[in-house]
Amino acid sequence: MGSLVIENVKKAFGPVEVLKGINLEVTDGEFVVFVGPSGCGKSTLLRVIAGLEDSTSGRVVIDGADVSATPPAKRGIAMVFQTYALYPHLTVKNNMGLGLKQAGTPAPEIERRIGIASSMLSLEPYLERRPAELSGGQRQRVAIGRAVVREPKLFLFDEPLSNLDAALRVNTRLEIAQLHRRLKATMIYVTHDQVEAMTLADKIVVLNAGKIEQIGGPMELYNSPANEFVAGFIGSPK
Ligand code: ADP
Ligand code: MG
Repeated sequence: MGSLVIENVKKAFGPVEVLKGINLEVTDGEFVVFVGPSGCGKSTLLRVIAGLEDSTSGRVVIDGADVSATPPAKRGIAMVFQTYALYPHLTVKNNMGLGLKQAGTPAPEIERRIGIASSMLSLEPYLERRPAELSGGQRQRVAIGRAVVREPKLFLFDEPLSNLDAALRVNTRLEIAQLHRRLKATMIYVTHDQVEAMTLADKIVVLNAGKIEQIGGPMELYNSPANEFVAGFIGSPK
């Protein structure tokens, strides 16, 4: 439950090739971080995995099944965005439950899952509030909770901490790490922040201009960078 294979994925926008043949294997339960400079294709790769963007060629395989032609809602994936993407007019509870409701999940089951997720993310006091009545950190926890209730095979995070101030970034990062330990789910996490990559990842994928420069554990990349680019990126302090 939750393995991913990316086979020679290429993506062009018009004449511009943004992903130039990505190959990657993620095993069930792994925490994989995509790291690389702004514009290198991290979000595009995540969106191709989620099905929000079609690849120009190549395959995306989840748990052994080619999902390249499967719509996003049927891929068993939940995505968390930098900007939270919450509905302003809905309460926290209804933001978390909406996707399940639309999928036809019975109300008591939705309640049960919201109960578990809101407890995990310390959101119980805020269930009846609207997003405008929450801090940035709380909003991002709601967005994470909305992903958790869907019980996805794969969690995708696109720079989830980028809009938070420094203290909240650390807190929320620790919560995501704890969530990973508890759920034992596969998580793919995009960041341009070396500290986030080094502290969260089982495996880091270093991207540069649409290609993978190196894949390895944090210490492996730190101690044995494949080239100057990786050395500069992983080694340079924030
Ligand atoms: P990252 O997330 O690593 O910052 P992106 O995946 O967002 O990078 O973007 C990679 C490149 O693809 C950038 O040059 C960006 O301008 C371009 N790009 C992304 N989405 C589109 C789009 N929908 N149409 C045209 N170009 C795009
Ligand atoms: Mg991006």
